[in-house]
Amino acid sequence: MLQDDFKKILKEKGLKITKQRMVVLKALASCEDKHLTAEEIYEIVKADFPEIGLATVYRTIQLLVGLDLVESIQLGDGYVRYEIGKFQGEETHHHHHLICLECGKIISFRDDLLDELEARIMESASFQVINHEVKLYGYCKECLEKRQKSQS
Ligand SMILES: [Zn+2]
Ligand SMILES: [Zn+2]
Ligand SMILES: [Zn+2]
Repeated sequence: MLQDDFKKILKEKGLKITKQRMVVLKALASCEDKHLTAEEIYEIVKADFPEIGLATVYRTIQLLVGLDLVESIQLGDGYVRYEIGKFQGEETHHHHHLICLECGKIISFRDDLLDELEARIMESASFQVINHEVKLYGYCKECLEKRQKSQS
């Protein structure tokens, strides 16, 4: 189903449906909440497609980012990470990021409580917000437990 969406979008943009493009999109779609780096995508893709090179994977990712099919994110750990972007009819983004300061884990948080804030900004500043990016820093459940144990 997602495969068909990919193909349709590539076709609409006048791009060829190549195996490289399909395997990179598939890797990202199957690891939606993992926030993979280009090297990690390469490792996954290689299993399916051993003859692919890292440079091709990079190029393919950049192309897909340019088409909004893939989003690049920087979460402050020095890596550029990628996740599947928006597809037709979807909202501009689908989750926020919780980042653990201790272990570096990235957790996706799906509740979006910012609609009200955006409405208020429109009202008071006549500024129309079309997108936002939220990163929340703190400690994950496991690290929190470890910290509490070491303190007692
Ligand atoms: Zn943690
Ligand atoms: Zn994400
Ligand atoms: Zn949001």
